[in-house]
Amino acid sequence: MVFAHDTELALQAAVVLANTALEPETLHTPEDFTAIWAEFGYTGRHDANEAELESIRALRPRLRRLLTSSRDEAVQIVNEMLAELHATPQLVRHDPFDWHIHAVPLDAPLATRIAVETAMAMVDVIRADEMSRFSLCADDACDGVVLDLSRNRSRRFCSSACGNRNAVAAYRSRQRASARGPSTN
Ligand SMILES: [Zn+2]
Ligand SMILES: [Zn+2]
Repeated sequence: MVFAHDTELALQAAVVLANTALEPETLHTPEDFTAIWAEFGYTGRHDANEAELESIRALRPRLRRLLTSSRDEAVQIVNEMLAELHATPQLVRHDPFDWHIHAVPLDAPLATRIAVETAMAMVDVIRADEMSRFSLCADDACDGVVLDLSRNRSRRFCSSACGNRNAVAAYRSRQRASARGPSTN
């Protein structure tokens, strides 16, 4: 593990959320969001209505900027977000987690909590000088954000869809090359 468990979860959630804004848009209804969000085990307030969805959609460009910026730009964005949202880090313990940090109350609006949790997670990334964990998808036609938390830093694609598409393309071009036979120049 590169970062603490809750930090990694917050980063993964932020990347997934930022990438839902790529064409084609995948967040149309509150249910779309709930389905995506279920896998990240977020606790606390979740209104699951249009107003909440709108505020979450509106947060995505800022998340994307934060996750794709330089280290110094990220510092600026993190500090702005924490000040603007009145983040006050507190150690808390609630099921199913041992002591961890919340910087806004569990009943704060979900978009606020996502923004603050992402900013807090980025504090760890910046302090550890690990901004290189973020990149853009290696697929030529995709602008997805990639988060690489693997030990050997092997992750190049934002999703398995992009990874598979490129693996198939690479396989076909190898096949075409071998069909032409060995080059003899
Ligand atoms: Zn918690
Ligand atoms: Zn991609």
